[in-house]
Amino acid sequence: MGILLISARLPARGQLYLGKSLTDLRPQESGVQLVFGYDTVHAKEVMLNLPRTPFLSLPTLRQAIPNRTIGMAKCVKFDLPTKFFPAGSFELGKSLTKAYAFYDDAWWITRLNQSAGQLPANAFMPVNTSEHIPIGIHFNDGPVRCDKPGVNCRGFLEVYYSTVNDEDFFESLRPSTYEPLGTLTPDKDSTGKLPRLHAAVMEATKKLFQKKNATQPQEPPSLLVVGVWDRTGSGYTAPTKVYYSTDASNPGGPDPLEKACGVAGLTEKEYRDSLMFPIPNRTDISLANNDWVAQTTETMFGDWAEESLLQAERALRVKGMDRPTWLDQAFGGNSRLENSGFCWFRDSRF
Ligand SMILES: Cc1cc2nc3c(=O)[nH]c(=O)nc-3n(C[C@H](O)[C@H](O)[C@H](O)COP(=O)(O)OP(=O)(O)OC[C@H]3O[C@@H](n4cnc5c(N)ncnc54)[C@H](O)[C@@H]3O)c2cc1C
Repeated sequence: MGILLISARLPARGQLYLGKSLTDLRPQESGVQLVFGYDTVHAKEVMLNLPRTPFLSLPTLRQAIPNRTIGMAKCVKFDLPTKFFPAGSFELGKSLTKAYAFYDDAWWITRLNQSAGQLPANAFMPVNTSEHIPIGIHFNDGPVRCDKPGVNCRGFLEVYYSTVNDEDFFESLRPSTYEPLGTLTPDKDSTGKLPRLHAAVMEATKKLFQKKNATQPQEPPSLLVVGVWDRTGSGYTAPTKVYYSTDASNPGGPDPLEKACGVAGLTEKEYRDSLMFPIPNRTDISLANNDWVAQTTETMFGDWAEESLLQAERALRVKGMDRPTWLDQAFGGNSRLENSGFCWFRDSRF
C-alpha cells in the first residue's frame, strides 16, 4: 500500500485499507479524491509513497501536473563516468535481481564451513560460467537451519544479486513485471534449470572445495527463489533515479542534470521541490518515495530506504509540522545524515 492518509488533527480517525490499488487521484478545490477502482475516498491531505511508474499512471493527477514536472518525473538516468566506475566494473541490465537456491545439504556450512564473505570478492559483479549463468555468492545471506552446529544443515544460499544481463536465466522465472517473486521446484523444472544452476555454482566454487580438500555435492538445489525488480520502467521497478555526471570521463561527455533529463535549466533544488509537491501551490498533495532523487553519480550513496523518509520529512516540515520528539537532535551532528538531509536540523536542501 503506497498511500499514507494524513490528518494531523484527527489521527484517531484514520482508516487503513490493505491491498487496494490507487487508480487515480482527482485534486478537488479542498482536498483530493482518491480512486481505488470503483471506490472513492475523500482526503484532506495526501502523501503518496509511490514509485515512478504508478505515480505517472494516475491520469487526472498527471493532467494537473505541469509538463515540466512530468519531464522530471519521467527522467531516469545512471551515468557511469569511468573515473568513478572504471570501465566494465558496473553493468546495468534489465533488472536488479536476487536469487536464492535452497539446498537440502547446506554444503557451504557442512563441507566448507563458510558462513561469511562473497564470491567473487565483489559479488555484485558476478562471475560468468560455462553455463552462461552469472554467479555471485553471498555466503552469509540466506537462512540456514542445522540440527547441531554444522550438522545436518539445510538452507538458502544467495547465488546472485546483481544488475548484469543474466541472459534471462533468473529474470524469466518472474511471472510478470508486476510479480517480482519467482520460484522453481524440480517438478516444474522442464528445462533443467536447477541442475544447470548447480553446475554453475559448482564451477564458481571449485577452488574453495579444492582448498578445503572437500568433495563437491552432486545434488542440485531443490528450490530456486528469485526477486526481479525491473529496470526497464515496467511494473515493480528497482529504485530508478537520476544519477548524472558532469565529469569529462562520462561516456558521451559531461552530462549536467538539465541535459540528462532534457529539461532546460533544471537544478537539483528545482527537481526536489517540484517532485515533493507535484502540483504548484498545493502542499496538500505530496510525494515520498526513494525514486524521487536527482544527484550526481559521484555523490550517490546507494538506493536506501532513507530516501523515502527524507522526502517525507522535508514535506512535513514545509507543511509546518513540528519536529517529532523521537527524532533525536543528535542526528544533526552526524555528518553522513547531515549530508543527506534530516531537515528539521538544517535548511540547505530547501
Ligand atoms: C533488490 C533491492 C535491494 C534493496 N536493498 C536495500 C537495502 O539493503 N537497504 C535499504 O535501505 N534499501 C534497500 N533497497 C531499497 C528499498 O527497498 C527502498 O528504498 C524502499 O523499499 C523504499 O520504501 P518505500 O516504502 O518508500 O517505497 P516502496 O518500497 O517503493 O513501496 C511503494 C509501495 O507502493 C505500493 N504501490 C504501488 N503502486 C500502488 C498503487 N497504485 N496503489 C497503492 N499502492 C501502490 C507498492 O506495492 C509498494 O508497497 C533495496 C531495493 C531493492 C529493489
